[in-house]
Amino acid sequence: MSKRDYYEILGVSKDASKEEIKKSYRKLARKYHPDVNKEDDAADNFKEAKEAYEVLSDEQKRAQYDQFGHTGPQSQGFGGGAEDFGGFGDIFDMFFGGGGRRRDPNAPRQGADLQYTMTLKFEEAIFGKDTDIEIPKEETCETCDGSGAKPGTKPKTCTHCNGSGQLNMEQNTPFGRVVNKRVCHYCQGSGKIIPDKCNTCGGAGKVKKRKKIHIDIPAGIDEGQQIRVSGQGEPGVNGGPAGDLYVVVQIRPHEFYKREGDHIFCEMPITITQAGLGDEVEIPTVHGRVKLKIPAGTQTGKTFRLKGKGAPNVRGYAQGDQHVKIRVVTPTNLSDRQKELLREFHDISGKQPADEQEDTFFQRVKRAFKGE
Ligand SMILES: [Zn+2]
Ligand SMILES: [Zn+2]
Repeated sequence: MSKRDYYEILGVSKDASKEEIKKSYRKLARKYHPDVNKEDDAADNFKEAKEAYEVLSDEQKRAQYDQFGHTGPQSQGFGGGAEDFGGFGDIFDMFFGGGGRRRDPNAPRQGADLQYTMTLKFEEAIFGKDTDIEIPKEETCETCDGSGAKPGTKPKTCTHCNGSGQLNMEQNTPFGRVVNKRVCHYCQGSGKIIPDKCNTCGGAGKVKKRKKIHIDIPAGIDEGQQIRVSGQGEPGVNGGPAGDLYVVVQIRPHEFYKREGDHIFCEMPITITQAGLGDEVEIPTVHGRVKLKIPAGTQTGKTFRLKGKGAPNVRGYAQGDQHVKIRVVTPTNLSDRQKELLREFHDISGKQPADEQEDTFFQRVKRAFKGE
């Protein structure tokens, strides 16, 4: 779609001053704003003028537009924000400052989202958990069904603003006499006045309650992930939908296991004899004990993988593994008999650990000593 030149839209020259641009836009905005102009193309003309003004009134955007045109390095162009007309009053707030945001006070609005942080035990995150949480949240008042009016009575349209929530204020400005809109202070912008307020909520239409919500934590959930519970946020306004509740998960660290994604890591201590002679040891996993064969000659740092003994994938992919890293523990507090046996072992082994098969760490140390 070909776009009209921004200068052409505003009817100004390429070297127009900021003041000229502002003045021209003000004229077009008054002419085309959908609140005042009901012609079919008024809205489009207004949007076009607003977009042109947003770019040309910003020095940086204007320079970029001058250099690259509509399709500059920002390939999306400059259209952002032009969808939202803003109220007629907003345009003048933009020039003269002040004023509250104008919105139709009777339009349905979605309630706010809520966030709740849930701390899980290590295993709970792995296996999932069904639980109830209690959160303080606003609920639509049941006595008045959210209207804020005593049962049997009704809120009345505010006679000062005729339900618009806004009052017209005439104002003298450097550009002439304009009508500026302000939030109606009789109804605080709601457009309604409640002559007989509901006793339960005092006219607010909402009450604070602690509400029990059932949460189904899926197996395999990980630190920082969140669960969206649709419709359990704050209630909507004027019949709008409720917001959502986001449950953010924190996981308590475990003293033996560490988790990275779907995999679980642990360190398993073994004795020097188990390491030297080999053994079968029992390894704790979150799924129960697993027997692991330690081959003779196992070194510290050797890692074994227990397939499928990690966390389930929260999206249903393959289950993670448990990685067991071996740590050979040097014995302490030896008895006389143990010392005797170790001395005998030492005498027949020599000072360097023997390993015929591979280029071991000790052979590398030996070469370093010799300066090879
Ligand atoms: Zn009012
Ligand atoms: Zn009420």
